[in-house]
Order: sequence, then C-alpha cells, then structure tokens
Amino acid sequence: MKSYMQPDKHHAAVQRALELGRSGDPSVLPELIELLRAPSNEIQRLAVSAIGKLSGFGADPAQAVAALAPLAVKARHPQTQQYAIRALKKYAASAREHLHDLRDVARNEAHCDYVRAAALVTADAIEQAAQDAESGTQHRCQRCNARVTADEYARSNQTFQRVFCDRCFDEVFLERRNFEAQVELNKTIEARDGTVVQSGGERRIADWLTAHGVAYRYDAKFRIIAEFQIRPDFYLPELDVYIEYWGLDTPQYKMSMYKKQTLYQQEGKRLVSVYPQDLPRLDSLLTAKLSLFGFQPGIDARSKVSEE
Ligand SMILES: [Zn+2]
Repeated sequence: MKSYMQPDKHHAAVQRALELGRSGDPSVLPELIELLRAPSNEIQRLAVSAIGKLSGFGADPAQAVAALAPLAVKARHPQTQQYAIRALKKYAASAREHLHDLRDVARNEAHCDYVRAAALVTADAIEQAAQDAESGTQHRCQRCNARVTADEYARSNQTFQRVFCDRCFDEVFLERRNFEAQVELNKTIEARDGTVVQSGGERRIADWLTAHGVAYRYDAKFRIIAEFQIRPDFYLPELDVYIEYWGLDTPQYKMSMYKKQTLYQQEGKRLVSVYPQDLPRLDSLLTAKLSLFGFQPGIDARSKVSEE
C-alpha cells in the first residue's frame, strides 16, 4: 500500500523511527507506539522493528507486547505482520497470552509462508520461556555468576546470545559502544588508491589488491546482522570473495567475529579471513587463498575489470 502521507512528513517519520530504534532508550516506547498508527506500511514496519530492538534496553514488556500483538495477528501488510511477530519474540517471556493466537497464525494457510514461519518460531520461543518460568530454570550471569531473572535472560540472550544480568549487560553494551566509537575514530588511514580504511592491516590488504590489479569494494559502513554490529569488509566482485581483517582481540569483538564468520558460512559466502599474525606473510597468504577462487597471480586483472 502506498503512503498517504505527504512526502516530507513521511520522510521525517521514517528518519524518526530509525533514530528511535537506534536510540537504545526504553523511554521512547510511547512515541514508537504512536508511530504504529501512521498510514504508511514502511513507518509501521520500522516502528515495529524498533520496538523489538528496545527489548534489549529494558522497554516495558507489557506495553510493548500490547502494541505488537494485534499487528502480529493482523496487519495491513504481511511484512509488517512478520516484523511484529519477530519483535514479539524478543518479549517472549511476557507474551504468553498470545501463544495460541500465534499458533493459529502459523497454521493458517491464508497467511504468507514467511509470516507463518515467523509465527512458528515466536510461538516456540514463547512456549520455551513459559516452560523455563514454570520449571524455575535458573540461569546465571556469565560474567558475575549472579542469578538472572527470566526477563534478564531474554534480554541478554536476544542481544548478545549470551546470558548476562542487567548490570553486566549494561557494562558489556557500553564497552562495545566505546569500542565501536574508537574504531570510528581510527578511520583515517588512506590506502594507496585513496580508499580510507580503518586499520593498518586493512591498508595492507587494500594495497595488495591494488598492486595485483584485483578490483575490490570496501564497505566502510557498519551493518547490523542478527543484532551484531559488523565491521567493514572487502568484496572482490570478480572472484565473488569477501576478505575480512580481524584486527582486534577484545571479547566483544570476538563475539561479533564468530557471529559473522558463522553467518558467512550459513549463507554459503566465500570468505578469506586475515588476522594480524598473517600480515608478515600477507602476500603468500592472499595469493594462495585467492587462487582457490580463481585469482591468477601474475596476470594483470585490470584488463578483466575493464571488461565489466
Ligand atoms: Zn552479571
């Protein structure tokens, strides 16, 4: 459905929904709930998704569930419904009364496959959360070993795929923020071809690719994949290969590194990982690894690039 909002208002609301979703501030929940009423599927979907994200930051679960549940059962657009169902999963521990509605959605052939699949996953998560609550399954914080409540468990598991108490969650989150801010600040290294990269290791890779005439794209933007902020990467279109430089050694960084490597595997993408200890033998390493994917050392690939 097309939006019936004026384009500038629509644009402002889209930006606002995105901003609120990134805010990590649970007090913006009422404003997001208000945005759900916008006559635009895009805004509705972004607001739904933002409400889901706020589960990790202590947004009031009862309020969030009350706003999401109706859309999880019936929305103007199936994609909005899918997003609402997925957002509801993040409040699984508090969404118990909607379990049967979601099972109905999962069974109902009138819904799109992707809506039904999402409903099934969320229903299972709600059931699991309910079982945990009943059996008194006691989780402990992986950082300080304190007992965590069902909500703390859900919150940290959703965000980090780890179990932290609320206090450690906040600390881990801040550490990660600071780390990312630091990475942003480091973005001043210029490779030989003018690409601005974020570390000396990345510059070495960029310069090697340039020297060997291998075309590449460098993505300097952070992306969120499955809740993890992911660092930039090199993509070599001729070889359909990604190169990642894993330059840091903090636990938070490693968490997102493992996550990203798993995602690459799951999606069948071809990944060459480079670590700091590889840098002294970078030339032989890249030559060997990229040869597996069709790189021919000694042949100037620039002629191939120009054919594209
Ligand atoms: Zn803790």
